[in-house]
Amino acid sequence: TKKAVLGPLVGAVDQGTSSTRFLVFNSKTAELLSHHQVEIKQEFPREGWVEQDPREILQSVYECIEKTCEKLGQLNIDISNIKAIGVSNQRETTVVWDKLTGEPLYNAVVWLDLRTQSTVENLSKRIPGNNNFVKSKTGLPLSTYFSAVKLRWLLDNVRKVQKAVEENRALFGTIDSWLIWSLTGGVSGGVHCTDVTNASRTMLFNIHSLEWDKELCEFFGIPMEILPNVRSSSEIYGLMKAGALEGVPISGCLGDQSAALVGQMCFQDGQAKNTYGTGCFLLCNTGRKCVFSEHGLLTTVAYKLGRDKPVYYALEGSVAIAGAVIRWLRDNLGIIKTSEEIEKLAKEVGTSYGCYFVPAFSGLYAPYWEPSARGIICGLTQFTNKCHIAFAALEAVCFQTREILDAMNRDCGIPLSHLQVDGGMTSNKILMQLQADILYIPVVKPSMPETTALGAAMAAGAAEGVGVWSLEPEDLSAVTMERFEPQINAEESEIRYSTWKKAVMKSVGWVT
Ligand code: ADP
Repeated sequence: TKKAVLGPLVGAVDQGTSSTRFLVFNSKTAELLSHHQVEIKQEFPREGWVEQDPREILQSVYECIEKTCEKLGQLNIDISNIKAIGVSNQRETTVVWDKLTGEPLYNAVVWLDLRTQSTVENLSKRIPGNNNFVKSKTGLPLSTYFSAVKLRWLLDNVRKVQKAVEENRALFGTIDSWLIWSLTGGVSGGVHCTDVTNASRTMLFNIHSLEWDKELCEFFGIPMEILPNVRSSSEIYGLMKAGALEGVPISGCLGDQSAALVGQMCFQDGQAKNTYGTGCFLLCNTGRKCVFSEHGLLTTVAYKLGRDKPVYYALEGSVAIAGAVIRWLRDNLGIIKTSEEIEKLAKEVGTSYGCYFVPAFSGLYAPYWEPSARGIICGLTQFTNKCHIAFAALEAVCFQTREILDAMNRDCGIPLSHLQVDGGMTSNKILMQLQADILYIPVVKPSMPETTALGAAMAAGAAEGVGVWSLEPEDLSAVTMERFEPQINAEESEIRYSTWKKAVMKSVGWVT
């Protein structure tokens, strides 16, 4: 049977921490026509270290593109209707590769990785002028989280990287750069670029001038010639060099959280979304002005949708561990076989029975920025079982979001009336209801959960020279919303929240 295709199609690569996806949307309705997903291996070579293989990441992208195109073929959809491709990616994760061989010179050092703790300590002793030097230029606190310190570590510790820099063969990039360079031809003419959103997470980028910052590069000791060109989030960077979509322009690039903000159409000052993936990230659009937080939030570039378009900024609350705690219960404790099973366990008891789980595996990010914290499970009794722990793990994700939202409200002054959500974890209905109960505002979820990919596709489709997506709400007619209303009373919610804060205090100071 022939399926009607109503408009041009746009593809999106969504390269996340846990998996890679390729998705194809109808640009007139935002209907998701087909997709393919591959889980990505994470390596933990030492405690606190998290690595991924950049080659595996690249292969997973090719595999997802090929499989999605096959599926479209089975649906009788002509892949020549795909007019553009957008890229959205896990941010901060750092890759250095050899531009002559195309080979990565070390594994990708993942954003969650903690190996740079001593690098950060040493750097913080040398901050020139006042402590605001890094923050005022980048919007970020000096932390293991961002790329500059990961790159510093690679330059200090990996002989192959040092040698390639000396011989002028090294290129640095976050995952977007690595993918775009490789997909547009790699050693034979690959385009070495990144977009303003990804650049703003490196800690080398001045978010006011929108350029690599010479003083920051000097401070971190980073040779500027290995950095990619910084472009807007929506313009043609280059063409696909191989595979089923050879010749299709890559014309959108956004860090995953910015992509989700676009995919949720948060284009107005004060609009916010929260994405529940490996970590959890709440971004609030602050319009064309940089707002600096007094409460532990980051200032970051939200998007710049075209070379001549203005830049928009966001305040961001980042939580390191959200879905990762579910993966941990699956892989390390084995109490579930799939992530989805967590819902069944939690449902069986419907309460944590006073058990609190603070998953500070990589220290605490916003609003605490406390590297000395480690995970704890507390409030255990003889009665506690795995179902209570499962429930506490879900509750932890909601409490962490509440802390971010409180900080956001204090910085912005205007409380959110509802929370727009997306990400892999939002298929969990118990989690969504718990979140509404703990925030005491409605939680609103799009029927099509792939908001990150949608945002990247929208940016790609809207690019100059492509022009198949208008970024108007009528182009999202296929997306409907599901609402979760708070069901417990505010008093009960407050009691649980204050006990959570007590648990957080107990997680701090485990490592010195
Ligand atoms: P990322 O973009 O960081 O790769 P995703 O948005 O793909 O993450 O979400 C995957 C994460 O969500 C994994 O950590 C997984 O454990 C978690 N997850 C997936 N399904 C569920 C579920 N039904 N309940 C709770 N967590 C889930």
